[in-house]
Order: sequence, then structure tokens, then C-alpha cells
Amino acid sequence: MASLQHCDLDNDWILIAEVRQEAIYVKHHQKKIAFLFSAMRHFAQELISQGHNLHYTHYDDQNNQGSLFGEVERLCKQKNINKIILTHPGEYRVLAEMQSWQDKLNIPVEICQDDRFLSSLDEFATWAEDRKQLRMEFFYREMRKKWHFLMDGDKPVGDKWNFDSSNRKALPKGMSPPLPTKFEPDAITQDVLQLVADNFSDHFGELGNFHFAVNREEALVVLDEFVAQRLIHFGDYQDAMVQGEPWMYHSHIGFYLNCGLLTPKEVIEKAENAYRNGDAPLNAVEGFIRQVLGWREYVRGLYWLKMPDYKTENFLEATRSLPKFFWDTNTKMNCLHQCIKETSENAYTHHIQRLMVLGNFALLAGLHPDEVNEWYLIVYADAYEWVEMPNVTGMILFADGGLLASKPYAASGSYINKMSNYCKSCHYKVKEKNGPQACPFNYLYWDFLDRNKEKLGNNPRLGMPYRTLNKMTDEKRQAIQRDGQIFFKALDKNEKV
Ligand code: SF4
Repeated sequence: MASLQHCDLDNDWILIAEVRQEAIYVKHHQKKIAFLFSAMRHFAQELISQGHNLHYTHYDDQNNQGSLFGEVERLCKQKNINKIILTHPGEYRVLAEMQSWQDKLNIPVEICQDDRFLSSLDEFATWAEDRKQLRMEFFYREMRKKWHFLMDGDKPVGDKWNFDSSNRKALPKGMSPPLPTKFEPDAITQDVLQLVADNFSDHFGELGNFHFAVNREEALVVLDEFVAQRLIHFGDYQDAMVQGEPWMYHSHIGFYLNCGLLTPKEVIEKAENAYRNGDAPLNAVEGFIRQVLGWREYVRGLYWLKMPDYKTENFLEATRSLPKFFWDTNTKMNCLHQCIKETSENAYTHHIQRLMVLGNFALLAGLHPDEVNEWYLIVYADAYEWVEMPNVTGMILFADGGLLASKPYAASGSYINKMSNYCKSCHYKVKEKNGPQACPFNYLYWDFLDRNKEKLGNNPRLGMPYRTLNKMTDEKRQAIQRDGQIFFKALDKNEKV
């Protein structure tokens, strides 16, 4: 971590603090709090074994001030500190707070660039300058060239930058992904689990069956097992969803990359080596590297470039409150029920569940961006605002008007049916377009396009659906509107839909 790079073992103090303010400013998933507190305690052990002076504040320490500033101030007074060195945080709110400490404490505060990323914020800002649209694909190509990942000289390996068109297969019958890498909670994790049970039981999510890696050694095992067992099929089935299979062929390393147990460079190098050694195909390796080198770096650059205004974006003027079933899973729509259930159990779902089931519903139903952003930040153990907000505001809700995505990712039930087996055990019928038994995604999709015609009608990537909509008979359009109204009326009254 950047702030520790030039740490002087004799004279410097490292502060790590478990503070209530950060655990409850949104009510994070219980597993997320347990994961981060446990990783912090394991990291503390590592630092002590390296001979550092460490001041560790446990959540239930009597003198714990409950906030980052409170703990920094306490240590500064206690140890007569004359300079504070911090790593750039992952959230605008925290950065603004840290920037005020110098005046408040009358001590110089240095904020180091976060070295857990491969591009700096200045580099991204330079790339973004004078561009009307900030498309990830072009940023990603620059990053490939700069780092020379998956390159043959100055050309991309395989003569193509992107193999996404090969990555949209449903999982064939009879094929079952390997079990995820699991770790038994050690004594430190068990203490933390008890602490979370005692203090945060009113937060969303299940605490039981905790099996995350909590130190670097374990995180490396997760990475190695992914490369050895899952990467080979990651590309083909990265968009597939199967009931009862939350982990699929995904890597599950976002938790560890985002909290610093793994570095993006080592992750990319291991994936590229697998391709070069003939252990994984190019479509899988390129797709995976694009997530880490392209998407992850890009959303972080965009977040810091556009904050704080990005937080208030609401291009489609969405106003509906988040339905109760996002917390209690109580919906007849099986795809949503399954994805929210897995979110509650694992503090994890994969990107297509987040985008094309949960996010798709949030978009079609016109849920308010503030409430959707807060939900995603709460429920996923890999979520920090720098990554969560561009994904929700830009990708899921199109609330930035197309700065990040070239079109809204809206889809009817047939997409979910094609990529999953959820529809087979659903109360609704995916093939029915209208009426009480019809899959709500079917009429809500057209209702969404109709409702937002003024804002989206000229989007070149929506030309085909708008032409279809325009050709619909008045009768069909009225049926869509009527079904949408019935659905929303029930939803807003908190009835089970
Ligand atoms: Fe979801 Fe519709 Fe399929 Fe039900 S029928 S699982 S609501 S897509």
C-alpha cells in the first residue's frame, strides 16, 4: 500500500482502526463487514511480524472514537505525531474528510496515489480530455499498449482487441462448474464473526457459511485455483446464469483486488501466462484481462473525474423507491428472487446477475439512482463507491445520459431466459407478452422505451426496438401500458409481484 512504502520501522506509527462510522454510514452486508475487519486484523499481524509500530483499534475498544478522524486525532495526541501519510481512499466523501485533517490537526497531511491501480488519476484525466464520449474500449486499448499485456509487438494477440462476441454462451446441460475455493474461519475470523453478530445483526445479509480468503496467502490460492480450474471456461460462460450455481466460472477475486490482497498486475500476468502456456483460450483470457485492465481502471478514472456531480445524475428522471423485495427476496419473479437470495447469502453475484437481472429491473422500473446506488454499495463485499457508482449510475441506470454506456442495458424476459434457467421455475410465463401471467420484463421493457421515447428515441443503438415499437398497433401499446400500470400499482403498494 502506497502510504506504507517508505515506512520507517523505528520512528513511524501505522494506524488501523475498525470504526463504527464506516461500518454504518450505509448499513453494509454483515459478511462484508466481517470480511474487511478480518482482513484488517490479519494484515495487522503481518505488519507486526515485519517489525512495524502498529496501533490497532478494535471495534469494541473502550477508547475507540468511532470515526477515522477521531482515531487519527487520538493517535496524533498520544504519540506526538508530526506528519500524517495516507493512501488515496476509494470514496469522494472520505477524501473530502481527509483533506480537512491538515487544518483541523495543524499537522501536514500527505495523500499518496493509490498504487493498487495500473493507471493514475492524472493519466485518465489526460486521456479523457476533449473526448465527447469516454468509451472503455479505447481506454483499454491504450492500457494494453502501455503495459504490453496480450500484445505481439504493437498488435493485439490474435489480431483483435476484443473477443466478446465469443463470450455469450448459456451453460450446456450437465456441465457443472467447480466448487469455489473456500477457507475455514480461523480464530481471528471467528472473533470477528461474533463481533458482527453482536453489533450488526440488523444489517442485510447472512453471516453464516463464511469462507472468504482473509489474507494474501489465501487470496493467492483463490487466484491460482481460478487460473487452473475456471479460466478455461470463463469466456464462454461469463454471461450464463444457473439457478443454485452462484459462483460459475468467475474468478471471485474482486473482493481481494479491491481491498489490496492482490495486485492487478500479478492477476493479469497469471492469466496471460495461462494463455501463452496453452492452458486457457484467448477469448477467456482477453475477456478476463479486459475486466481488470480495462473496466476496473476505467470506472475508477471516470468516478474521480466526474465526482461530486456524478452522484446526482438522473438523466431519465427516475423517482420510484426501491421495492421491499430487494431486501427480503419476497417476489414471484424467480430471476430476481434467486439473485437477491444469493446476494444475501454470499455478498456476491456475478456481473450479469447484477446488470441484466437486478439492474435491468431497476432500470425498467425507474428506481431512483440514490436508492439503487446505496443498495449495491451495501450488499456486495467487493463494492466501494469508486467501482459501484459508475457501474450503477452509468452502466445500469443510464443516469449519466450515455457518458459511460452507449445505450441503456434494457432487456425483456427472453434475454434472461436465453442466458439462464430461472424462467423454468417462475410463477410468470416468459413466452407470454401481456396479461397477468406474462413475464413482467416483457411489457416493462416496451413500457420503458415508450415512457422514455423523448430522451432515448434518437439513440442510434436503439433504432431497431424503436422501429418495432412504432409499428405496434394502438391495441398492443395500450395492453403494454395497462400491464405496466397494474404492475407498478401493485409494486408501489408493496404487494407481492
Ligand atoms: Fe424472470 Fe420473467 Fe423469467 Fe420469471 S419469467 S424468471 S420474471 S425473466
